[in-house]
Amino acid sequence: MLPIRIVAIPTEVAESVRATLKAPKYGFPAHAEHATDAAPCRHCLRIIAPGKERRILFTYDRFSEVEKLPQPGPIYIHAESCDRYAENAGFPEELRDSPRTLEAYEEGRRLVAQEYVADGKFEPAIEKLFADSKVDYLQVNSTTAGCFTFRIERSANHEQR
Ligand SMILES: [Zn+2]
Repeated sequence: MLPIRIVAIPTEVAESVRATLKAPKYGFPAHAEHATDAAPCRHCLRIIAPGKERRILFTYDRFSEVEKLPQPGPIYIHAESCDRYAENAGFPEELRDSPRTLEAYEEGRRLVAQEYVADGKFEPAIEKLFADSKVDYLQVNSTTAGCFTFRIERSANHEQR
């Protein structure tokens, strides 16, 4: 497996949303509630426990940090403080059992290819997409809900940026 970075949303974004209950950049109101179904927190990349934990729904530009062209959409984070997912920890095991779409982008937000993974075997799909040198990064989305989950970058590539 080639070295990859799992890039969850920045901690500053999560903390800002918790403190203000407003979406960064947009200022749209964020919504805090008890989790009623299993959705991942985009900061720690763990499932927000339904019936136990609280979550915040807010609007997030899934291309912030990598592109000038935005594409806002709804995402959840834990309402309480949590630890950001470690970038070198590999594909998040808590998310392996749910169908995800891997979208491979070239800089300029050009979609090069995509893979639908429903059997938990993400690593071969990630390798296949990164084998194309045009691909700069991958966006991982929920296949069923369509929401942005996290980004994957090549480890080595990042050093050059
Ligand atoms: Zn969390």
